[in-house]
Parts: sequence; C-alpha cells; structure tokens
Amino acid sequence: MSVNVQQYREINGICKQRNVTLVAVSKTKPAAEILELYQLGHRDFGENYVQELVDKQQQLPADIQWHFIGHLQSNKVKYIAPFVHMIHGVDSFKLLKEINKQALKNNRVIHVLLQVHIAQEETKFGLDEKELEELLSSPELSLLQNVCIRGLMGMASFSDDTELVRSEFKMLRTIYETRQPQTTFNLRFEILSMGMSADYRIALEEGSNMVRLGSLLFGARR
Ligand SMILES: *Cc1c(COP(=O)(O)O)cnc(C)c1O
Repeated sequence: MSVNVQQYREINGICKQRNVTLVAVSKTKPAAEILELYQLGHRDFGENYVQELVDKQQQLPADIQWHFIGHLQSNKVKYIAPFVHMIHGVDSFKLLKEINKQALKNNRVIHVLLQVHIAQEETKFGLDEKELEELLSSPELSLLQNVCIRGLMGMASFSDDTELVRSEFKMLRTIYETRQPQTTFNLRFEILSMGMSADYRIALEEGSNMVRLGSLLFGARR
C-alpha cells in the first residue's frame, strides 16, 4: 500500500478550484506516507486516535495542521491541546469547556467544529438540532476565550443509497445556513465539513467546503 499520488493531485485540484479544504485522513497510516503528501505541498491531515496523533506530531514537520476528527474524550484533550489545529467532533458543552481550558493553559486558541447528528444510524455521535441551538445560545459561551467555533461537521449514513446520503447532507447544509449565529470573537461560522471517500462528490454538490478523505488517498485501511 502507498499513497495514490495521481488520485491526490486530481482531487486536490478539484478542491483548490472550489475553495474546499482537503483534509487527508491518515489514521492507521505510517508517518512516511504522510510525508509523501507533505512533500507534494499538503499540510492538512486528519487523525482519529489521540495517542497515534501525538506520536505522529512528534515525528513529522511542525507546520502540519493536524485535525482531530475522531470522538474525543474530555480527559484526553490535554494531550493534543499544545498543537492541534482543529477539533471536528465537538458534541457537548462539557467537551468545549475542557478544550477551552487546555487551550488557555497552552496560551492558544483552538478551532473547533460542532458535530451534528444527521445519519439514520444510532451509532454516530453528534448534536441534534435542539442541542445545537442550546449550545450556541448558551450564555456561558462568551466566557470561552480560547476556542473559536468555526462551523459544523457531519457524517452521512454509511449506505449505498445516494439519495439518502444526499438528503442528509442537504439537511446539514440547511442547518448550517439557517442557524448561522452572529459572528463574535469565538464564533465564526465559515466551515461546513462533510464528505468522506465514499460520498465526497455528493457532499461537494451539496455545499461542503471541507472534505475528509482517507482511503481514496492512502488506500484501504485494515
Ligand atoms: C476515517 C474517517 C474519515 C475518512 O474515511 P475514508 O472513508 O477513508 O475517506 C473521515 N471522517 C471521519 C470522521 C473519519 O473517522
């Protein structure tokens, strides 16, 4: 297995042209393969596991922008807070507060996306619309000086039913557009992160401006 460079160039071209951020999801893949994309100019990489991310960050160039895209437990935020660029899966105020606390300790601002539950499956994490509303209108939000909420992230159902997937992305886009909060120092909704290897084309058609691609670029994971 190795990086599919041609595929990368093609997809990266599409993303650049549309102003879409391509996050290369490198979970389970060796540092050498990340370096291969790095040498082609790529800087945004996504990881799902805290320990793996910490290990790779230590081995790889410091100007990589690391995206944590997995489910993050509050007690592990401290390990990635010194360097993580963006945390995609924030789905509770408790987690947001912990990210703020650890960012403050490191004297930095961590960018986050709120994860919205759009899939039919029970297993996917995320806020429902009401919880999102509550979080965004919480008076405590203005106390969090070391996080910046940059937008929403969602995962569609793992399904061959493209119309189902499309309808879930449509729903997330509608939420993103209709729930646009007023911009403040820690609230700047500009990112709609949706689309993985199997469904990124549909996600782009439905208005995604950040896709997270693993297997298309690095080959299948074991
Ligand atoms: C693993 C993962 C991806 C990438 O998945 P592929 O199907 O390999 O593109 C994207 N987003 C999240 C949240 C993931 O966990």
